Amino acid sequence: MSAPTYDLGKLHGGLRLPGNKHDSTAAPIYDVPVPRQLVLPLAQHVGDPAQPIVGIGERVLKGQLVAEHEGTLGAPVHATSSGKVVAIEPWPISRRFGDPAPCVVIETDGEDRAIEAADAPVPFDALPPDILAAKILQGGIVGLGGAVFPTAQKLMQATTLGTTKLILNGVECEPYISCDDVLMRERADAIIGGAQILMHALGADECSIVVESDKPEAIDRLGEMLGEFGDERITLKQVPTIYPSGGEDQLIQLVTNREVPSGGLPTDVGCLVQNVGTAAAVYDWIEHNEPLISRVTTVTGPGVAQPMNVRARIGTTVADIINFAGGYTELARLLIIGGPMTGKSVSTDRVPVVKATNCILVLSEVPSVGTTRPCIRCGDCAAVCPVQLLPQQLYWNACADDEKKLRAYGLTDCIECGCCDLVCPSHIPLTADFRKAKGRIQELADEKARAERARRRFEARNERLQREQDSRNEELERQKDTARSAGPAAIAEILKRKRDQQDDD
Ligand code: SF4
Ligand code: SF4
Repeated sequence: MSAPTYDLGKLHGGLRLPGNKHDSTAAPIYDVPVPRQLVLPLAQHVGDPAQPIVGIGERVLKGQLVAEHEGTLGAPVHATSSGKVVAIEPWPISRRFGDPAPCVVIETDGEDRAIEAADAPVPFDALPPDILAAKILQGGIVGLGGAVFPTAQKLMQATTLGTTKLILNGVECEPYISCDDVLMRERADAIIGGAQILMHALGADECSIVVESDKPEAIDRLGEMLGEFGDERITLKQVPTIYPSGGEDQLIQLVTNREVPSGGLPTDVGCLVQNVGTAAAVYDWIEHNEPLISRVTTVTGPGVAQPMNVRARIGTTVADIINFAGGYTELARLLIIGGPMTGKSVSTDRVPVVKATNCILVLSEVPSVGTTRPCIRCGDCAAVCPVQLLPQQLYWNACADDEKKLRAYGLTDCIECGCCDLVCPSHIPLTADFRKAKGRIQELADEKARAERARRRFEARNERLQREQDSRNEELERQKDTARSAGPAAIAEILKRKRDQQDDD
């Protein structure tokens, strides 16, 4: 067995927050029954929405492709049980705070019949890394820690850059969320099996599975399983329980003491980070032909009768899951998808569980921020910022809508962790302001990119027209030369053709 190690780098700032995880970790993972209706959003990943390939009225089987991936950062979507497609229409989704987005709606038939695999399973290490990555793409697998970046594209990008270190993120530092903890306790074998597959696809020679020290059951189980696998390339590391040590860049800093540069990527320091749930999903797809059709999610908070962790089909509505967990308590006031720090509050429980849904949290009160007062320049926000930003400076520049200064002060590096909000004695909603400012900057960047694309199209059109004109002129010159030797009648004919062409132009 690989003993957990502690040779850690240092995390700047962060906070020790009450975990509130005991209620949901007291029992094993429960399977939510297949609901009567499944709602599958076409955009469950960072890239372009998937394109539906099924029609209304069509019967589908569990695991069948219902929408193909589109664009360079796309991911496909699969039916998560058998039944009939009854609609392809906008439906409230959590990513848009309950606003609608296009979804495939399936009325299930209760048979849960699976599609037959097209290919016989091939041992993963018999496949070349690029073929293995392409196969991972077909499974619809995206980062399950919340970022939902398609796993295959992340692997391909990292392979091109010669990345050799894989980090599996089991650091679940946000309060209330415990789905990764219970997954590590119950499916350590799938996580380690997934690590081996990811390492092969990446060409990595080492992997660290990183867990917080307040998860002794997960650490013991992973340690036991590592002993059984006997793969010396994979080690287990513990980190202290500090929020937000599970942020990608923060984790790399802690585990390797390497600092991802501002505006950079983990691959800049030779690392690739994947969530432990993603590793298990890769294992299920490559070893058992099961695409990403379900996930473990925590349903918890004082507003839920029986807090627990459930394995739910993607597309099950939050209402169905809360019902399975005993329903709402009389304390229920606020529904959040995700954790209390980074989650999104939604106005309806009709939203479906998607690949990103790690937690369904029902709080007993809407957090009150108190009356906002002017900044007193105490510097507390800077002391806790894990990215070493100056939130007070960012705040002033956000109020002034000064894009140049916001960029200069590193707004785009803000991970929206909310630590600055929690400590601000003036109750300034810093993170919400930063989120809005980032949105505005992104809109400007999108607008610039659109204008640049239009400019390039315009120039390309002009160049094409010029090329066509040049070639017509050359042709006329050639004909003139021929006519000169042929006589006046032929010259008159060429001049007439030129006049006709100018009229056309
Ligand atoms: S914590 Fe609040 S009051 Fe203190 S410097 Fe930051 S923004 Fe200003
Ligand atoms: S929300 Fe942004 S600015 Fe505030 S502490 Fe987190 S990373 Fe720093």
